[in-house]
Amino acid sequence: MSDTNSDETHGVEGTTELENTLIAVELKLDEAFEAAGRQALTDDEAGAGMVLEQVLDLIYDSFGSVIPYDRIGVATTEDDGQIVRSRWARSEADNLKMGTGYAAPLEDEAVQNILGSGEPLIVNDLEAYLKEHPESQPTRDIIEEGMRSSLTCPLASGSKPTGMMVFSSKERNAYTDKHRDIFTHIAGHVATILERSRMYEKLIDLNWQLQVASDALEYQATHDGLTRLWNRTAILAAIEREIDRARRQEKAITIVMCDIDNFKAINDTHGHLIGDVVLQAVAGRLSEALRSYETVGRYGGEEFLITLCDCDADGAPHVMERLRTAVGGEKVETGKGAISVTISLGGAVSVMANTDIDELIRVADEALFAAKGAGRNCHEVRVVEAGDK
Ligand code: GH3
Ligand code: MG
Ligand code: MG
Repeated sequence: MSDTNSDETHGVEGTTELENTLIAVELKLDEAFEAAGRQALTDDEAGAGMVLEQVLDLIYDSFGSVIPYDRIGVATTEDDGQIVRSRWARSEADNLKMGTGYAAPLEDEAVQNILGSGEPLIVNDLEAYLKEHPESQPTRDIIEEGMRSSLTCPLASGSKPTGMMVFSSKERNAYTDKHRDIFTHIAGHVATILERSRMYEKLIDLNWQLQVASDALEYQATHDGLTRLWNRTAILAAIEREIDRARRQEKAITIVMCDIDNFKAINDTHGHLIGDVVLQAVAGRLSEALRSYETVGRYGGEEFLITLCDCDADGAPHVMERLRTAVGGEKVETGKGAISVTISLGGAVSVMANTDIDELIRVADEALFAAKGAGRNCHEVRVVEAGDK
């Protein structure tokens, strides 16, 4: 890093550029914070830890012209204000010993010396300091990294300590009162920036948690708990959408009502819990047998509704046969023995999708009734004419 023991930097002179950089960062953070408050963030923006990292990297690259260092470490007070924890460190040395995570209680004497005084502390011979304070692990660590002197600067928000920033140099006697004054002059900006980036991180984190919670809620509202298929409301909404689309594209649509055969007997013979296992297995087999553009939901009890897009009276029987064999082809393993299960299916085809959903479901139900009447474990298809009642 650059040596600033030149005569150019008197007192706080030479800090203007740095100050401007810091103010620009403050403004940027404000904008980002506002934007994050207005909208849910995308996955990319939600990389919470990134904000503080980026800000500190920028600080690392900006301070070189006014304070000498080969390493900067930043520690912040944790929420309850009881400890300070090292959050970030960047060093010219390649053996970073004390990275993130190191924590010390706020009442620790060394911590108190810095945060309590509110003044930057210069230690121009770290090895001598360690001899006097052999218990200081952070000092031992940065000496091992090759550092020989340090300037430790407290950060505060109002009167509340928020952390510290530690500049270290590989040279002994790198720091003078001049550097202390420079830091004191810009400490307010640095503290504000760190505070804002922490708040921004928290906001991003909260947004993220909110998003996860709202995704979970949406899933619950649209899915059936037992079978994990779309629930009745969601499958009906999906069918409405598919009818609209098919109508616009002047394509056929088929709705299939599917019902487990003699399911009451399965419950009566094996118990309700085994009945649930069978229901789940049937739901899984139906989903697996369907193509991505075909949708299945639980209509209620042991009945499922399926929408087949661009599927007419020629195609529907093939799909329904595929579904029938997918469910009934093999017994269901229940943990209390394998159980045979079959389904009956009733299909309603609307050639130009010019029939409303209620009518389609009514006709599919009728076809299902016919399939049951025909002996179960089979399918029936009806074509609905526009205006059919
Ligand atoms: P069919 O072949 O005519 O359809 O006869 P079925 O016995 O399947 O029809 P029925 O309507 O007589 O009985 C349906 C049974 O499905 C009755 C009900 O207790 C059971 N059932 C509905 N929902 C669930 C569920 O979530 N779990 C279990 N285990 N059973 C359910
Ligand atoms: Mg049934
Ligand atoms: Mg039924």
